[in-house]
Amino acid sequence: MSPAPATGGPPGRDADEESSAPGAEQDRYWMGRALDLARRAAAAGEVPVGAVLVRGGEEIGEGWNRPIGGCDPTAHAEMLALRAAAARIGNYRLAGSTLYATLEPCPMCAGALVHARVARVVFGAADPRAGAAGTVFDLLQSPVLNHRCAVTGGVLAGECGLVLREFFRVRRLKPDPPAPGEECPLSAG
Ligand SMILES: [Zn+2]
Repeated sequence: MSPAPATGGPPGRDADEESSAPGAEQDRYWMGRALDLARRAAAAGEVPVGAVLVRGGEEIGEGWNRPIGGCDPTAHAEMLALRAAAARIGNYRLAGSTLYATLEPCPMCAGALVHARVARVVFGAADPRAGAAGTVFDLLQSPVLNHRCAVTGGVLAGECGLVLREFFRVRRLKPDPPAPGEECPLSAG
């Protein structure tokens, strides 16, 4: 199905693994890539979330959270990865692709993923405040929408959550208090 990965690329889908679900190794590989992008957001002072869009074993779009720097409330990692991929492919429909995000997508991003006909969404940490992949809302698999995404959660969840918690822990130590609403999404409830 997918071409053999280039040297240094993701593990092949046909890897003979009996101890883990098919594709699990590949999911961890791409989530690691999304984590690298999340750290890029943190370095820029943005809430650290990263996303990668993959099709045919190849990365076709990437993004990291940057609403502050971009003065853009829609500049979530997933939205930027979708925009980059659609521009690259030349098609706003991204059928057959898989979106990897370090944090469970919010309602806005979940809506965009459905619009783009993304086949599968893999996320790291669940978002108890606004997760729209089943935690708070279930937009990715809603029976009333005309497309549903397969969903896998919890891939590298510990690392994905740690990046967020560490970001907010350091921010609390700074003299400028966080703005209203700027709390770690993982600290809810
Ligand atoms: Zn979002």
